Amino acid sequence: MTLRVPGIHHVTAISGPAQQNMDFYADVLGLRTVKQTVNFDDPGTHHLYYGDRTGTPGTAMTFFPWEHASRGGSGSGATEATGFSVPPGSLEFWADRLRGAGASPQEVTTRFDEESLRCEDPDGLILELVAGPATRETPSGPPVHPDVPAEFAVRAFHGVLLDVADPDPTARLLTDVMGFEHLGEYDGRLRFRSDEHEVGSIVDLRSTGSGATLHMGRGSVHHVAFRARDDDEQRSWRETITSAGIPVTTVQDRCYFHSIYFREPGGVLFEIATDTPGFGIDESEEELGRNLQLPRWFEARREEIEARLPRLVLPDERS
Ligand code: ZN
Repeated sequence: MTLRVPGIHHVTAISGPAQQNMDFYADVLGLRTVKQTVNFDDPGTHHLYYGDRTGTPGTAMTFFPWEHASRGGSGSGATEATGFSVPPGSLEFWADRLRGAGASPQEVTTRFDEESLRCEDPDGLILELVAGPATRETPSGPPVHPDVPAEFAVRAFHGVLLDVADPDPTARLLTDVMGFEHLGEYDGRLRFRSDEHEVGSIVDLRSTGSGATLHMGRGSVHHVAFRARDDDEQRSWRETITSAGIPVTTVQDRCYFHSIYFREPGGVLFEIATDTPGFGIDESEEELGRNLQLPRWFEARREEIEARLPRLVLPDERS
């Protein structure tokens, strides 16, 4: 049986100050903060996760906030834009809301039968809100925010737009190894889709010609993670990617999922992350994202770690 990734699991980016990041994603975009933890490779910095009501795979936008990071640039190997799926008819609401928040919404454009609204988060990370003919719902439902009507709320990832010097090798990895289908081209954007019934199933590629490679910094996507349903499927992925001649890391325990990483031929860091165990492993659904959670191997250092991190205020904790 040929393996196919269902779609994106999460997208991880680098931001500036953590509170500013939380104010944008949890308040302006109205996503739920589903986890506050630390960067497991650098516990002196937060790792913040925003998503739907439970952080369903395919909805989690995550950040490493580095207060003093320099601004990232564009170039090959960059994830130029991260797309979120919103219901049809909601873009006018979002354009107003984003304008009010200084997120520079551009004109709505139409491509591949979808309307798309491009904007920037406070660190210059490019987002696209995409309203297609049908909205796919996650089982746990969209995030709830008092100022974002449920019929407009962000549902899940739509996809990512990757900038690569030469799209061919990346395209071959997507179609011949990862199970994507080439859907066509619009305006220099090559579209690939994995499982059309799943959220976050789109990868678009754009050629940069040759040119400079990405300078990673604030406002840059660090990696794009795709889903494996469980550890067995991930093991198969590890063998499949290795057989395709691409070096893959060993399995890393990320507490909420297990991860393997590899660099696709265009330079973008890819991850394959398991759907299980999920964000409910250390908090009740009601409490998700309210308190700093540490993996068991950092618990003994909690006091020291907490002292180094900025104290964050969720939108509903503001007086
Ligand atoms: Zn990741």
